[in-house]
Amino acid sequence: MQEFIGCCRSCGKAIYCENGFLNGTVQEDQTLECFECEEQRENPEK
Ligand SMILES: [Zn+2]
Repeated sequence: MQEFIGCCRSCGKAIYCENGFLNGTVQEDQTLECFECEEQRENPEK
């Protein structure tokens, strides 16, 4: 089962809840962010 939750605030990628597992994170201000963008933000390579 896959439920559309919203879009990543950074890249606009669709975030889904799949079998109870969200393929992204909910920020403190309730916006959504995908794992790729969260990783980029926490570990910027440049
Ligand atoms: Zn993203």
